[in-house]
Amino acid sequence: MSLLSFQHEHYLLEPGESVLDCLLRNGQAVSYSCKSGLCQACLVQAVDCQPTSRAMQGLKSTLQQTRHALACQWQPEADVSVRLPDDAAVSVHGSIHALQLLNPAVMKLVVRADDSKALAECRPGQYLNVVNPAGIMRSYSMANDCRADGCAEFHIAATAQGLFSNWLFNEAKIGDSVQLRGPAGNCFYLKETSQLQPMLLVGGGTGLAPLYGILNDALDQGHQGPISLLHAGSTAEQLYYRQELRSLAATYPNFSYTAVVREATADSSCQQGDAIQIALAQLAALPAADTRVYLCGNPAFVQTLRKLAFLKGVRSANIYCDPFIERSTASA
Ligand SMILES: Cc1cc2nc3c(=O)[nH]c(=O)nc-3n(C[C@H](O)[C@H](O)[C@H](O)COP(=O)(O)OP(=O)(O)OC[C@H]3O[C@@H](n4cnc5c(N)ncnc54)[C@H](O)[C@@H]3O)c2cc1C
Repeated sequence: MSLLSFQHEHYLLEPGESVLDCLLRNGQAVSYSCKSGLCQACLVQAVDCQPTSRAMQGLKSTLQQTRHALACQWQPEADVSVRLPDDAAVSVHGSIHALQLLNPAVMKLVVRADDSKALAECRPGQYLNVVNPAGIMRSYSMANDCRADGCAEFHIAATAQGLFSNWLFNEAKIGDSVQLRGPAGNCFYLKETSQLQPMLLVGGGTGLAPLYGILNDALDQGHQGPISLLHAGSTAEQLYYRQELRSLAATYPNFSYTAVVREATADSSCQQGDAIQIALAQLAALPAADTRVYLCGNPAFVQTLRKLAFLKGVRSANIYCDPFIERSTASA
């Protein structure tokens, strides 16, 4: 058995146990969320030892060079010593600049970084970890390009008994201090690849946040190929930014927007049906092998569509996914 040292305490790791699970089992109140190596909420820093490459996967190179690691992905086979990361080194300080309900269950949160240049590495569609004044940290995707003014826009869904979203909907106010960590994720627009490539963007609920960022980035960068965005909800009331998306479609001839609702609706501007089937029908009209597909939001929806898009001929390298995995209560 290996020994895990953390803040002057020493714990025995069970065989195959992650650093995160060992710390939680021993009552350490460390931050974590998805336990899948995605959200980066469980960041730790190794002391006098080297994390495995799996534990550093997805971290930016400056964090890798300073031996930061994701505790949920690190299953040490030798004794290790870790500490919490230095906040000043990994976090950007900011405050709430705007709060706006986009529908009764989705809040737009805009955070302004104290140093407007601090978010210069962020790309629209990537995600940041947002830490509220009580220290609760969750991942949220960026719906805008915050590189110029240091203001990051997030769309956050109300979650029943959700710690972060309850705070946001019921207590948060303009000026509250928040910290940002990141960016992370590879769901963003790549100008470097062909500007003629068709793009299909599909998401449900707040899955629109990264898609909206990616869409505007592609249009701003002069993407020439056809771009189709499909936003799905159970009812028309659950959709948002419809006017903004319609006006983009009216401005850019290569952009089309489809609002899809599952339940019957009197709203003739929405298509009623199964979003997955409607997305596949849109894909069938495109050259699948050359199409870039972006899928964001509910993890089951994203994984199902990812598999079906691949089976329809989209190259896996051309499928960009941002599944909104919620806080896990299971052992990794
Ligand atoms: C990469 C990424 C990007 C994301 N982007 C977005 C985004 O743009 N917009 C967005 O809205 N969301 C996004 N999410 C999801 C987001 O990070 C949060 O998971 C979500 O907002 C819920 O957080 P919360 O604190 O409100 O709920 P939590 O407190 O985390 O709870 C989530 C659910 O789990 C239940 N739960 C929690 N703990 C327990 C327990 N111990 N036992 C039983 N049940 C429990 C809660 O009741 C609740 O239903 C993203 C997630 C990831 C990984």
